[in-house]
Amino acid sequence: MMRILLLGGTGDALKIARRLGPRDVYSLAGLGKVPGDLACQVRVGGFGGAKGLAAYVQAQGIALVFDATHPYAAQISANAATAGASAGVPLWALRRQPWSPQPGDDWRIVDDWAAIRAALSAFARPLFTLGREPLAHLDEIAAHQFWTVRCLDDHPGHRRARVVGARGPFTYEAEQVFFEEGRFDVLVSKNSGGQATEAKLDVARARGLPVIMTRRPALPVADRTFEAVCAVLDAIDALRAAADAPRWGRT
Ligand code: NAP
Repeated sequence: MMRILLLGGTGDALKIARRLGPRDVYSLAGLGKVPGDLACQVRVGGFGGAKGLAAYVQAQGIALVFDATHPYAAQISANAATAGASAGVPLWALRRQPWSPQPGDDWRIVDDWAAIRAALSAFARPLFTLGREPLAHLDEIAAHQFWTVRCLDDHPGHRRARVVGARGPFTYEAEQVFFEEGRFDVLVSKNSGGQATEAKLDVARARGLPVIMTRRPALPVADRTFEAVCAVLDAIDALRAAADAPRWGRT
């Protein structure tokens, strides 16, 4: 039975992990919830760079590395490509399509925190949906601003900021209420793609709000790339069926 190493940490990755068997390994960085109800093994924590990952792949007899990490988790994706190549193991990847601006959208594409800060200066009530990064910058909040930071972390907040711990998916209706209550005048977002967190863009559009969008990092090329979880599940089933099929030529 071939052994798969699934690099995860996203809702899509968890759906794939649910299809894995007892010899397979679901790997998490250790920043979020660790599922306790999977048939596969769960491994938590880094490997020690690409070299460490390659050593793990070889030592554990991994036959396929599957990268289902978040599109902004560029380091682990780069490590997976380097490690797969050096261990001689194929790399498959789920690469979600990015969102695209729709007619009438006002997206301002930025590359780093300095550019976010510069773009923010014209606004008073930003909503950040970038994960924990803004929490390291709460002492930079301008006197005319009140920030809302939505992320997974618990945090006491700040006198000019509110930290909202929430995990997607988010519906359009819930986002409407959230935006209304927060009176946001700009949305700051990663271009994560996928449906789970897309409603915020629809609500921003309906309210005529600009979006400060961070540019996606470049990701390595994989041996096989998928855009949707259902295609991944089909491919894993097909791979298993091929690996388990009797080899008629053998004696
Ligand atoms: P990153 O910068 O690409 O990776 C930093 C280091 O964390 C890696 O070099 C690796 O350590 C370890 N690591 C990351 N993902 C791992 C995994 N699935 N299994 C084992 N080790 C892992 O990643 P990040 O942006 O900090 O994201 C961390 C995790 O959160 C990822 O798994 C990602 O899928 C998830 N996530 C990220 C975002 C985001 O916006 N970045 C959003 C949602 C979920 P070693 O070098 O020691 O192996």
